[in-house]
Amino acid sequence: MDPLLQHIGESVDRLVTIDVLGYGVIGPLYGAARERQEPPLCLSAARALADRVGPGGCAMITTGWILPGHAPYGETDGPVGAAVLARALALGLQAKVLLVTEADLVGMVAATCRAAELQVVSPDLFRQDPGTHRPVAAVVPLASQPDRAAAETTASFRDYGPQALIAIEKSGPNGKGVYHMVGGQDVSEGVAKAGLLFAEARRLGVLTIGIGDRGNEIGFGRIHDVVQALLPYGARCRCPCGGGVADQTTVDVVIPAEVSNWGAYGIAACLAALQNDPDLLHTPEMERALIRTAVQHGGVDGMSGRARLAVDGIDIEVNAGLVALLGEIIRAQSARRPSAFSTPILRAGGDAREGAKEAPRGAGT
Ligand SMILES: [Zn+2]
Repeated sequence: MDPLLQHIGESVDRLVTIDVLGYGVIGPLYGAARERQEPPLCLSAARALADRVGPGGCAMITTGWILPGHAPYGETDGPVGAAVLARALALGLQAKVLLVTEADLVGMVAATCRAAELQVVSPDLFRQDPGTHRPVAAVVPLASQPDRAAAETTASFRDYGPQALIAIEKSGPNGKGVYHMVGGQDVSEGVAKAGLLFAEARRLGVLTIGIGDRGNEIGFGRIHDVVQALLPYGARCRCPCGGGVADQTTVDVVIPAEVSNWGAYGIAACLAALQNDPDLLHTPEMERALIRTAVQHGGVDGMSGRARLAVDGIDIEVNAGLVALLGEIIRAQSARRPSAFSTPILRAGGDAREGAKEAPRGAGT
């Protein structure tokens, strides 16, 4: 294990799990996820994707959340992260990326992906495209009716043969198959049955990753006991099912992040570090363009439900700042140009890090 990569991965995890909103939820969720999985988590997910998704292969990303009563408008959290991760997978692994979302959000997700430099094409063209010469994506809907969603799931796995399935801020079913808002209400009727995608992926041995920020999103099955204990309606919801809002979908890697988009950025950043290609992480300028595009095409801030340039109540400029910080972390300037100020951890590495014994260079006290 390269100590510099490990070091970068730890910093990325730390940054995307800062409790900016002060809910007191992300710390315990991350702590539990870290204890039960191989940390750092974003790096683990990036490694697994690099191992399992090959050139011309397909990665499937499901995202999109419509607040009750807000159709056809969907949250900015999810689709923006999906576009960022799709871009990283297309550019870094030459993967074709199929995005699966709510029927009302197909246009918004497609527009956001285009703002992330992806060429969004029809499902037919997508199937035929080799995927190795251009960053290509397609966006398809998934039904809320269980029977239709099951048929669509079977068809998608048959037609596209995904090598990985990633959920970003996607409503997840509890143990009774019921989908809930974090506030305890049953929203199953209007929600795409993305839990079916994960059941099929597990059956076929396809890599599964879930990113969420509260615990009612797909991926939290592995730590559902912690979610149940932590959230007010975690173990007991406000609907007759009585099963609580905690998602019980088991995935290979679950990544709790303060904002779900940030977890996706964390994976993109780690992929950039793994492949030593900073371009795989988007820029602060692109972050602004992505949020603006999402909002122009029907995205709303998940906190206020308004068409604000914000994600979960966090302003566009803060999100751009977070992306700038991630970029700095993967550049790891001190480590790559070692000096006496470089961290002790890097002495464990070889090659260029021998330079760490040299005299101090540049400013810094
Ligand atoms: Zn319920």
